[in-house]
Amino acid sequence: MILQPKKNIAHLPTRIEALQNLSSWLGGPRIYIKRDDQTGLAFGGNKTRKLEYLAADALNCKARTLITTGALQSNHCRQTAACSAQLGLDCVLVLVGKSDADLSGNYLLSKLLGAEIVFAEAGTRDTVLAETYNRLEESGRQPYLIPYGGSNSIGVAGYIEAMQELMVQIQGKNEVLKEPPDWIVFASSSGGTQAGLMLGAWITEFSGEVLGISVEESSETLRVRIAKIVEETAKFLDIPYSIIDSDVNIDDSYLGGGYGVLGVLEREAINLFARYEGILLDPVYTGRAAGGLIDLIRHGFFLNEDRILFWHTGGQPAIFADAYQSQLLSQPFQ
Ligand SMILES: *Cc1c(COP(=O)(O)O)cnc(C)c1O
Repeated sequence: MILQPKKNIAHLPTRIEALQNLSSWLGGPRIYIKRDDQTGLAFGGNKTRKLEYLAADALNCKARTLITTGALQSNHCRQTAACSAQLGLDCVLVLVGKSDADLSGNYLLSKLLGAEIVFAEAGTRDTVLAETYNRLEESGRQPYLIPYGGSNSIGVAGYIEAMQELMVQIQGKNEVLKEPPDWIVFASSSGGTQAGLMLGAWITEFSGEVLGISVEESSETLRVRIAKIVEETAKFLDIPYSIIDSDVNIDDSYLGGGYGVLGVLEREAINLFARYEGILLDPVYTGRAAGGLIDLIRHGFFLNEDRILFWHTGGQPAIFADAYQSQLLSQPFQ
């Protein structure tokens, strides 16, 4: 298997750290963390790895404008805006929201990074995206479409490479993690991260489990989506791996009040990681995934001798979104 060419943008390899304080406080298995919140590109996150491959493809296609879509507080859109600025390309973002939205968090950063914003409603997002793309094309701005979350067979290469990076770190006798973890746990949404980790696990003969915590959708929906991305990417990269939906390991028990709704589960995880480890999680993705991980530990889901790697996928600018900052320290975490 040969990955497509990429543009070197990310700060790699990201560190692996041991969460000793949190592990002993929880009294369960040893928890480690992979710091993909530190990938660079305007506060980092998992989209940077995908964008390395997508950006190379865009330049190869002679694009002059990157266009993508997401929620108002989308990390993917903020990182795409930063990537465009770095490459000297224009950036157009179709965001689900209204033009009078509070200028904070990722939305503020996307504007600061020079992105042009087009607003859409959730139901018409894809139509508005297609219309905007056509308009850009007609006016000669040579748009390159990056799908939602950067999760197509080009972007996924970033997480195949990430899995290879992890195995090289472990085989190179990483000072904190000397053997493969039994579990890799992380937030899963548009599915590219999980698809890449799964393909990478197969290629590197990783012996542990790759467990995505869904932040938005049912296990059934997400399994089908991820299996499809895996299949398309395997075909695109000529990897002889075949997959059935049930191979995709997803836990959807932590959807709480829905996408982006900050509940006690997320607030506890954010506060524990901050106070015991000095590590910041975000309210939408990593807060929920870490909350799920903590709950699984409390329910004895893992063996006590397991090594668990929590893959931090970034997202911290959302801490400063008006919608969240006032709630993070409310009861019982004052
Ligand atoms: C996009 C995102 C995810 C989900 O990754 P997918 O590849 O879309 O499944 C997780 N965490 C953060 C912080 C993200 O921005």
